Amino acid sequence: MASVPVQIDLLTRTPSPRSADSVCDPALADGPWTLDATPGLPLPAPTYGAGASRFDVAPPTTPVQQQIPAEYRRTPAPELEERIRAAKAALGDRLVVLGHYYQRDEVVQFADVVGDSFQLAQASRAAQEAEFVVFCGVHFMAETADLLSREDQVVVLPNLAAGCSMADMADIDSVTACWEQLEALYGTEPDADGRVPVVPVTYMNSSAALKGFCGDHGGIVCTSSNAAQVLEWAFQRGQRVLFFPDQHLGRNTAKAMGVPLSQMPVWDPRKARGGNSAEALTDARVVLWRGWCSVHARFTVDQIAQARAENPDVRVVVHPECPAEVVDAADENGSTQYIQRVVDEAPAGTAFAIGTEVNMVRRLADARPDLTITCLDPVICPCSTMYRIHPAYLAWVLESLVAGTVVNQVKVADDVAAAGRVALERMLAVRP
Ligand code: SF4
Repeated sequence: MASVPVQIDLLTRTPSPRSADSVCDPALADGPWTLDATPGLPLPAPTYGAGASRFDVAPPTTPVQQQIPAEYRRTPAPELEERIRAAKAALGDRLVVLGHYYQRDEVVQFADVVGDSFQLAQASRAAQEAEFVVFCGVHFMAETADLLSREDQVVVLPNLAAGCSMADMADIDSVTACWEQLEALYGTEPDADGRVPVVPVTYMNSSAALKGFCGDHGGIVCTSSNAAQVLEWAFQRGQRVLFFPDQHLGRNTAKAMGVPLSQMPVWDPRKARGGNSAEALTDARVVLWRGWCSVHARFTVDQIAQARAENPDVRVVVHPECPAEVVDAADENGSTQYIQRVVDEAPAGTAFAIGTEVNMVRRLADARPDLTITCLDPVICPCSTMYRIHPAYLAWVLESLVAGTVVNQVKVADDVAAAGRVALERMLAVRP
């Protein structure tokens, strides 16, 4: 195995059988700019690069990052930190920096607000006085911040290639094609209770175009924090739900609400009628898009069994983007915000095996040295797209703002923005 990056070494906290001593891809030691494509050309690799699942193929529409100036790539970490601090100080109240829980420490230390996608959606909405919102997350989050921001606010994503492989698994053309097939099957007339045949629900982890689709078609956005409340909202208005792009969040949430698995067919966009019979679709309560998160799909029932074999008292908590059998085998499941809360509230001495992104797990462990916290997956695999936000990119975009130049602005096209806001506002009105 090639050299392992310092950030990854730091993820190994204690020498125990469950401590990770390898990473899923040694190429994570490279700077993310080695993965960035030449502007205008497709990504250099068919996948999302280091750490990504080999089953995740980046579509041609995936945003591409232009090269950052070589000077930033060569600057040592301590100097980058100093320059980021100086740029933040120079921008003062004109700037707010948002950081996702899964972001690497070298970046998240500069965030004014740290949270999951729901908390950051609220934070971006609350940051109405700031001129610039620099989003240290991934592309769909920056789009959401732009949708919720004032018209004259500028949202910046330090590396435009920081996308989300799950979000890229559903695009507007294939969702529209699915919708047309469902409408042909179900019709468009409400039933006697006034419920339409199908309501579209998109996970926050989706493009602004899909949020706009939901806004235009009586649908709504959800996050892992409020998915159950959003599904209730949708079932009050529709006989069925079309849920995209994460099949696991949709399945786990609906299953917990009592929807049988037999009424949750999976829609494969590459197959006619999604690969389903007309009867299965007619009987469906939730039609699940065939998408997944590469990070959370790695967790397995065997890993849970191993964690329990090592410590029968271990509390296993997983994210609902994990497969249903993993969620069923765990003690608890919940959003990133939920996982943060159960760890915060745990009595000293509690042992946790946590099934979510490893930067988050390590940060939880650092904050509570009186607990034993390990990642359920013994092979460290961070979110490879989030990982593309490197301090060099943050320094570059902030110093550019100080100099009066905006680089890497994320701006949602006007033709989808209004409808996207409608779907987001419906979500924000549904309290988790
Ligand atoms: S952790 Fe998964 S869902 Fe979240 S940004 Fe990364 S790939 Fe997307």
